[in-house]
Amino acid sequence: MRIVLLGAPGSGKGTQAALLVKDLSLPHISTGELLRSAVKAGTELGQKAKAVMDRGELVSDDIMLSLIEQRLSQPDASEGFILDGYPRNLAQARALDALLDRLEQPVDEALQIDIDVEMVIGRIAKRAAEEGRSDDTEEVVRNRMKVYLDQTAPVVDYYAQKGLLSRVLGEGTIEEVFQRIKGVLQIRSEN
Ligand code: ADP
Repeated sequence: MRIVLLGAPGSGKGTQAALLVKDLSLPHISTGELLRSAVKAGTELGQKAKAVMDRGELVSDDIMLSLIEQRLSQPDASEGFILDGYPRNLAQARALDALLDRLEQPVDEALQIDIDVEMVIGRIAKRAAEEGRSDDTEEVVRNRMKVYLDQTAPVVDYYAQKGLLSRVLGEGTIEEVFQRIKGVLQIRSEN
């Protein structure tokens, strides 16, 4: 199954993706993590991306497409994947469709985790303390939220129009949210 996970920063996408990976034995492809590894490794791409990420803005569509294309062509992605952090704007959504059409592996499910912005701010502050991410300061978080609302929220409608969207409430315990997600995936696989 090819799943695109959608949701605001701090919506719990990464946590839920990790649980799904175990459950479905599919690779978790997180563009945020791919970028952070490139930054850590000091590659040219990483150097270009770091400043943009530290402002909470989006890395260019070209860079992202080559990163995702490379990752999706690895053998472990041929049976499906859980994509987290991509697409983040409409141009990326269209580019992903074109890429997956070429690979004859279209998206099966777009899953949106809905949560309240206030709750998100609290969660991110907690994660900042735990992981020390350089883009988790309050100002940058606020900008990431704005970028999400302006650019990523339209992607939700894009998948809705294709009949691929499901939404789950991201409130409650991690396990509660996970059970909601499993319910949605169950329904999708029966149709
Ligand atoms: P978040 O917690 O905000 O969902 P991520 O770990 O997914 O964070 O991404 C962190 C940063 O990496 C983003 O703010 C952005 O700068 C960059 N990034 C990740 N995915 C993409 C993408 N698809 N397009 C452009 N930039 C991206």
